[in-house]
Amino acid sequence: FADRDGVIWLDGELVPWRDARVHVLTHTLHYGMGVFEGVRAYETAEDGTCIFRLQEHTDRLFRSAHIMRMKLPFDKAQLNEAQKLVVRENNLQESYLRPMAFYGSEGMGLRADNLKVHVMVAAWNWPSYMSPEARDLGIKVRTSSYTRHHVNISMCKAKANGHYINSLLALQEALDSGCEEALLLDNEGYVAEGSGENVFVIRDKIIYTPELTSCLDGITRNTIFALAAECGYEVREKRITRDEVYIADEVFFTGTAAEVLPIRELDGRMIGEGKRGPMTTELQGLYFDAVKGRLAQHKGWLAPIAG
Ligand code: PMP
Repeated sequence: FADRDGVIWLDGELVPWRDARVHVLTHTLHYGMGVFEGVRAYETAEDGTCIFRLQEHTDRLFRSAHIMRMKLPFDKAQLNEAQKLVVRENNLQESYLRPMAFYGSEGMGLRADNLKVHVMVAAWNWPSYMSPEARDLGIKVRTSSYTRHHVNISMCKAKANGHYINSLLALQEALDSGCEEALLLDNEGYVAEGSGENVFVIRDKIIYTPELTSCLDGITRNTIFALAAECGYEVREKRITRDEVYIADEVFFTGTAAEVLPIRELDGRMIGEGKRGPMTTELQGLYFDAVKGRLAQHKGWLAPIAG
């Protein structure tokens, strides 16, 4: 991944992809104290390539940094510009963007004082995280043997690098057991989220999703709230048990990378008809309409990379 053409934005400058390096004593590499985003750009109907909900992602990056007490040496406007710039300069259309803030190699102590905060933004072509079949037919999921973060162990409102060890372990376990994703429960045993997705459960036309305790405040989750409301659907945030998922009519994951992804099976139990259900199909369709600029009322979610 490091050996390719293109440019990466690093600390305010565009550097050749291969030269965007750090030292082995980079503090964040050792302890995982860093914050990042996963952002996506789409080719839209009328405004060329646009970054979807750029401002919300940048806002969340700054909130994550605030929680971790990392002082970013750039402002939000500069980071928005940097993200547009890397998509433009790499001639990307549909792409995934990775902004990250991390500590430098000025010291190794856990005090983490006097460390320089670096910021990078990379972008690359990543047309689909899941296969097109998964998007249409749904995926097989298992409940993870790993518990999702506890609110007083990790700061769940922050999208922090170190938090993803838990996600990687859960996803690897799920893949090893022949599933495509993991569903993680919180420390009290209630449904939290996927390894990199929020989860929604539909029963009798009402949409449920876990409260924002140990799951990430997903931007796709928020997008689904808006789209569901426009369809006249009620969305309730509540505690959900794993057996409520077994007996749901429809279940789906949401995330910038995963988009809107139907779940057809959990722990060997078929969910609903065992395929993408009608409300999931409708919301997924609207989500693609939104990111592709086909919803006039949601043009505000698109940040054109030109200009
Ligand atoms: N939960 C976790 C753990 C994630 O990593 C992500 C992806 N950022 C999400 C949920 C979904 O968030 P978003 O919709 O903002 O991508």
